[in-house]
Amino acid sequence: MAKTKRGRILWSLPSRGRGTCPVCDSKRIKLLYTRTTTDGSSLKVCKKCFNAVQERVDAAAVHGKD
Ligand SMILES: [Zn+2]
Repeated sequence: MAKTKRGRILWSLPSRGRGTCPVCDSKRIKLLYTRTTTDGSSLKVCKKCFNAVQERVDAAAVHGKD
């Protein structure tokens, strides 16, 4: 599989693969990882938060809705 997390491919993504991580609130960080919440929705998170506990991902998803 082609590398999807580094190099030129990032420039073809919306915002060049960057944004604000909903879990840790880092600005302009690369959001290249998808976590799924317990209610089944998916969330793009940064590399650090890919390894975050499920509760933090769920909390971020709820926070993002309001
Ligand atoms: Zn993060």
